[in-house]
Amino acid sequence: MKKILLAGLMLLLFCSSAWAEQPEWTYPLEPEILANTEGYITLANKDVLLDEDYEPQDLEKLKVRNVVDDLVREEVNDALEAMFAAAEEDGCKLYVKSAYRSYQTQHTMYFNRLEKNNGKDDGWVSYPGASDHQTGLGIDVLNYAWTKKEGMNEKFGLEEEAKWMAEHCWEYGFVIRYMEDKEDITKINYEPWHLRYVGLEVARYMQEKHFSLEEFTEDWQIYLSDWEAQGGNFKELLKERAKINVTVVGYSEDGEEEVMLSHW
Ligand SMILES: [Zn+2]
Repeated sequence: MKKILLAGLMLLLFCSSAWAEQPEWTYPLEPEILANTEGYITLANKDVLLDEDYEPQDLEKLKVRNVVDDLVREEVNDALEAMFAAAEEDGCKLYVKSAYRSYQTQHTMYFNRLEKNNGKDDGWVSYPGASDHQTGLGIDVLNYAWTKKEGMNEKFGLEEEAKWMAEHCWEYGFVIRYMEDKEDITKINYEPWHLRYVGLEVARYMQEKHFSLEEFTEDWQIYLSDWEAQGGNFKELLKERAKINVTVVGYSEDGEEEVMLSHW
């Protein structure tokens, strides 16, 4: 019995010292979100191409109003349901025009566009591997009138539905992936219809900072490398946080937090 207690105490001491070695994590988002295990912050663009066989494992049929019958990732479906319902309450009826696109589909679309455009890339169709649609998290959302149009253009941004999405989509975990004033960064024309799911916390942060996904990615990657330069070990941090529950149990006379570490 004594031995077990001692071993437990040693483990606790070891964990607490390992914990203390890490520099403080002060980034506004939890490290688990940046660890990106679900892929919700995955960046795809011309500089960061997705593999030919990159395909999310939880794709399912769209549950909301649509004109395509495409697939989308499970969590996006739920977020879309909540957003569509809220939009409708405000008098905006939304339709999905396009959701998940495989590498192969994008490949075909890109080269068809090139052919139509005399071999020139006009920035309207993404290069294969560079499309946000391949993540299963990017969707094109329109109003009914625009689902009937042949091509898309920035004038959709003047529609009530587009204005509603620009104002409210972050409340459901989405961002406008290709913003009007970020064309020089995203290298993609303004697309007020293209929403991208990043999860609630990230969407709120990006909205607050008015970040494109490229800027957000740079922001957290710089923070992480600075944190690591100060001696932080990200993998260890994640391991410790998964294992240890830190509870503040009181304060010492000089105001220091007294914590109790316990395993989940
Ligand atoms: Zn799109």
